[in-house]
Order: sequence, then C-alpha cells, then structure tokens
Amino acid sequence: MAAATALAVNFVTKKNYPCIRCQLKICLVNPPIEDFYTTGIRRQPLGLLYIASSLKSAGHEVSLLNCHTNKRSGMELPAEFSYLLQYMKPSSSESFPFTGYTHYGMSWQEIEKRIKECSAELYLVSSMFTTYYEETLRIFAIIKKHHALAVIAAGGHHASLHPGHLLENGANYVIQGEGEIPSVMLAHIIEHGGSAADVPNLCLSEHGQVKKTCTRLTPDIDALDLPDRKLPAPASMRGRGKKFVTMIASRGCPNRCSFCTSRIVWGKSFRERRSEDVIREIKICVQDHGADIINFEDDNLFPSRERALTLLEALIMEKEKHAFYPEFTAMNGISIEKLDGDIIMMMKRAGFREIDLSLVSHSDELQKNERRPFSSEHFLEIACYALSAGFKVRGYFILGLPGQSVEEAYETVSFMKNSGISVFPSVYYNVLAPHDQWKMQRSSAFFNARADFPRDELIKCFNSCRPDL
Ligand code: SF4
Repeated sequence: MAAATALAVNFVTKKNYPCIRCQLKICLVNPPIEDFYTTGIRRQPLGLLYIASSLKSAGHEVSLLNCHTNKRSGMELPAEFSYLLQYMKPSSSESFPFTGYTHYGMSWQEIEKRIKECSAELYLVSSMFTTYYEETLRIFAIIKKHHALAVIAAGGHHASLHPGHLLENGANYVIQGEGEIPSVMLAHIIEHGGSAADVPNLCLSEHGQVKKTCTRLTPDIDALDLPDRKLPAPASMRGRGKKFVTMIASRGCPNRCSFCTSRIVWGKSFRERRSEDVIREIKICVQDHGADIINFEDDNLFPSRERALTLLEALIMEKEKHAFYPEFTAMNGISIEKLDGDIIMMMKRAGFREIDLSLVSHSDELQKNERRPFSSEHFLEIACYALSAGFKVRGYFILGLPGQSVEEAYETVSFMKNSGISVFPSVYYNVLAPHDQWKMQRSSAFFNARADFPRDELIKCFNSCRPDL
C-alpha cells in the first residue's frame, strides 16, 4: 500500500490517528441555485453532511451554510437565455413550460452577511452541477472579500469534471471524487503543516498548471461515519409536507450509460453498504429526525437481484417489527435491468408506494448507442407489473438525445403513455459542452435544439407530456 494511501486509511479508521489536537474551524457551503425550476430533494447536501461527520470525528469545529433553502425570489432573465423569450407567451402547447428565472435559496445579501460573520479558516464549497458554476464562483468571491487568508476547497460533480476552472477562479484546492478522506487530510495539513501531495484526490494549481496529487482513493463506505443530519435547518429536512430524509445505500453504478457522470465522482467501482448499517441509519433517521419518508439517492439501488433481495428482506423484517415505519422512495430513479415481479412485490412490502423508472428512449438503436442495459420490452413489463401492484409509476425519457428524431421522441412518449404511467421528459444537455455553453446546459433551457429537432418541436413534445395542456 502506498504511504499516502496508508495514511488516508488511518484517517478514516482512526487507528494510529496521527493528530489529537485538530480544532480547525471549517465551514461547509452549499450554494443557492438559479434556474427556471428546482426540486426540493436537492436541499439536503448529503455529500457535505458525510464530510461534516468525518471532520467532526477528527476533532474539527464544523458549521454548515446551507444556502439552498426553500426561499425563492424572481430574477431578471439572464441575457444567455434570451433565445427563450419568443416562447414565453400565454400557455399553449408551444409555450415555454416554466415560470420565470428564479433564485432558489438564501438571498446573496444574507449569504454575504453570514460569511462575513463566519470565522472559519477552511471553506469547503459544494460545486455539483456545471450549469450552476456562477453561483459557486460568487461564493468564492464573497469568502475572498471578507476572509482573504481563508483556504477554499471545492468538491462535487463540477469540481470533479473541471478542477482547473475552479482553481483559476478562487479555489485553493479541488477535491475530485469522494471527499471524506481528502477533507480530513487537507484540514490536518492546513492546521499542522505538511505536503498536500499526500492528500488523495486533490488538485491544486502549480505555476498555472493543474496538478493532481497521488492516486485516486475510494473509501470503504462501511467505515465512514453516518452523515451529520443535525447540521441542516429543520426546514430543509421536509418534503411533500412531511419529514423527508435522503440517504444512500451504495455508491457508484456497475452500468456504463454513455451520458452518465456517475463514474466521474464515484469511480469505476460499485460499493454497497451492509444491509444492517442501512437499517441502523434508517432507525436514526426515524428516532432523531422523525422521518416519514426516506428517499434513497443511490445511482443504482438494485444493481443485482441478490442485492435487491438482501436489502429488501432486511427492510421488510424491520418494518414487520414496528407499528410505524417510513415510506421509501428512490426519486433518482431505479435502474430496472435486474427488477422482476418478485422484487416489485417485495418493494411494496418494504414500504415503497411509488417507483421512478427511466427508459431514456423507446428506440432500440438509441438505447444501444447510449449503452443502456435493458430493452423497452423489459421497461413495459416492469411498469405494468408495478401499476398492477398499486404503485404510482413515473417514467422518464431523454428529450432531444443526439440522434433522436422528432418522430422517435413522440413514439417514446406514446409508448410510455400507452402503458398507463405518468411521463416526464428530461431535456438533454451535454455535460462536456465547451465553457461558453456551460450555463445553458440544464434541462430547463432547451439548449439542445438542432436543425432536425428545432426548439419549438422540443417544447411541443415536452408539453405533450403535461396533463394540463
Ligand atoms: S444506470 Fe443510471 S447511474 Fe448507472 S450508468 Fe446508467 S444512467 Fe448512470
């Protein structure tokens, strides 16, 4: 084992822990987002909560500035989206389906006030989606304005994809992939000195060049502390008018769909947590946070039949012991290649009432091109089975996928509607687009128009899935 890796493992297992006086003040920041719409499930920064627990276990003083609250305020339409103006007309099948551009979360004045009052020496800023990079950079600028000497590190999907961009714009360090071990090691080095070269998954700027430190490290997820859910405000632990808690039972996905960035953050390996640990966390979510609904945010909750059976059996056994047990959802979507009727019935007994399934496309050719691991027939079989078992079924597809024709998009909508499920389009965006197009790479922006799939057709097809039009 490389020296740096051995040190990293010690940080997490706390064996031979090299530091007994770590007391750095650290602030974790979840930026607000600005968009035409958002979903409430993004308000719980689960990744930061995992990191918070690891840092606290190492002795640090950790606070959370969760700027993505349930507040919202209308904004002027940014110039980049002016191409949408012509579609913003009274509701019809051809009108832009969202209301105005909105700031979701704490106001910038409030954020600046909170950061000004904060005495943290290290700021760890979440930078999840490339399209929201401006919000991340604005957080960096506020930190720099009030705390010129503070260290800024960023992590998340965008940070993993484009470390150089964040390093050039205010971050001292970027953590690629999973952040628990690198954050603890970085905090140790900031407090006690040492070489950042020993910190896995870390990027820094050296002579204007992005330098990556030692090799990538993926932690043993069974050894990690549970996320610190006492940090977020109670309001962010609500959804659908109930106590709503997100958690994960695994990291990564064994599949290789071509448009997916799962591997960029979680690496190539798929790691599942022990069922008993998942059950233990559920108990804590119920006892300490009053969870009515627990949403599994896994990329692939049931990657094998064996895993599905083991986890569901554990959930069912636990449910049978309690008068109250929470409802489960998997709003990120369940990949269905290993699902069958038995698993659907077990999901029902375990406490799932709804199921989110992603087809991507009805076309065999597109499914193959995108390396999707199941066929439309299997999707139909599972959707029908779930409906007949009494589930509320939501089906998703990608609208305007490269190579998709207008006809194929409508065929996909018809195919899904005919099965009796609710249909939800996700408008395609390109996570690897050039920098000058980053801001428009979001599902709400319909930026993926092409000569053979123009924007008005994209909007019409999108609206054809809405029951109110
Ligand atoms: S099944 Fe889902 S998480 Fe897995 S690679 Fe495909 S899109 Fe990504």
